[in-house]
Amino acid sequence: MSRVLLGCIADDFTGATDLANNLVRGGMRVVQTIGVPTESTNFDAWADVDAVVVALKSRTIPASDAVAQSLQALAWLQSQGQSNESLQIYFKYCSTFDSTDAGNIGPVTDALMDALQTNFTIACPAFPDNGRTIFKGYLFVGDELLHESGMRNHPLTPMLDSNLVRVLQAQTQRKVGLIDYKTVAAGSAVITARIAELQASGISMAIVDATSNAELVEAGKAWKNMPLITAGSGIAIGLPQNFGIHATAEDIAKASKLPAPQGLQAIVSGSCSVATNAQVAKFMAQGGSSFHVDPQQLIAGADVTEQALAWAKEQFAKSISKPLLVYATSTPEQVKAVQAKLGVEKSGELIEHALSAIAKGLVDLGVRQLVVAGGETSGACVQALGVKQLRIGPQISPGVPWTHAITNVGELHVALKSGNFGSVDFFNEAFEQLKTG
Ligand code: ADP
Repeated sequence: MSRVLLGCIADDFTGATDLANNLVRGGMRVVQTIGVPTESTNFDAWADVDAVVVALKSRTIPASDAVAQSLQALAWLQSQGQSNESLQIYFKYCSTFDSTDAGNIGPVTDALMDALQTNFTIACPAFPDNGRTIFKGYLFVGDELLHESGMRNHPLTPMLDSNLVRVLQAQTQRKVGLIDYKTVAAGSAVITARIAELQASGISMAIVDATSNAELVEAGKAWKNMPLITAGSGIAIGLPQNFGIHATAEDIAKASKLPAPQGLQAIVSGSCSVATNAQVAKFMAQGGSSFHVDPQQLIAGADVTEQALAWAKEQFAKSISKPLLVYATSTPEQVKAVQAKLGVEKSGELIEHALSAIAKGLVDLGVRQLVVAGGETSGACVQALGVKQLRIGPQISPGVPWTHAITNVGELHVALKSGNFGSVDFFNEAFEQLKTG
């Protein structure tokens, strides 16, 4: 690798592809690694990469582990390329600021600031293309405040406060402030002046208001030379300009071209978000074949993986041209019933384990076009498939690109969908998009 300009650490795998997607669309050449690369990683294929996104699965693990993994990713990123002094670091989390009171956004940001010896950074999960906007420090999901949106019922990271200054302040000893909408509307020079003001008053992290792409692009100039940025994927659209990158639509289409799709099609869904529930319901209403992974059966010790794969084999024998859906996706009430029996962590793990074993089994059966719904679920599936690197392809919908991976069993097109993303017909759109290119 010769000149990595931007080193990114993402706290989940769908978030990583989401960020990589936005950087590609801004004209950057991006490689995404699954976990921190080891010596066996093939670096030769990485010539002329502008940005590297290291995908971790660190959103809901203990804070100390998230810190350790993030610092390991930082050290690896800093060891790459020749222009390390100017390497900017981007800590990517969810556009709904998914975290528990224990972290991990605050603790990881603290650790990265210490390691980079920097005393100021921003925190901005805004992603207007997906309806995530921030006003006076309050995060909106579409027309709803975060705590009134479906995120209040998230199985692992229920978000019960929409005031991000308060949420972040609960996770860090450093003082958290705000760069508000008036400052952002006034442009990058005024933002830079505000940062100096905040620093003078002892504030070292600032939530940034943003409600449009135009604001994110203009504000992006103020993040130039900031050693550390923390954000969702939205602000990525304002960064390529800082590195002198201005791509045309043609450049972007060329950079995101993937090999032709092959093999069978499947969807594995472990997200319980409002959007995914609607997508699963729509897929079934349209006559799509589906298999429900019932957590109660998993708890009872049934071999649900074997049942699911036997079902899939039977379905593929009938038709090889239709995608199959395997899902654990459930309503908040059903999720609560499972969690009451097993606890939050154990139920999440049990279901992720089953879904990832099923994903692997599906690929063994010949699936080569795989959509996974859910951040944690995607992490588990990609790990089970032994994927080390993803090449970022064309966007299916904001925040979700097709990617291309080399696995032990061959080449695979995979789309990792963050729970809340995508239109109600996302699953069909995804396969259609791959077919038409
Ligand atoms: P999202 O992207 O929507 O946050 P994730 O995959 O990150 O989705 O998180 C969903 C979590 O909920 C996973 O840990 C998954 O295993 C768990 N889960 C899925 N279905 C159920 C269910 N029926 N009951 C309880 N937990 C579930």
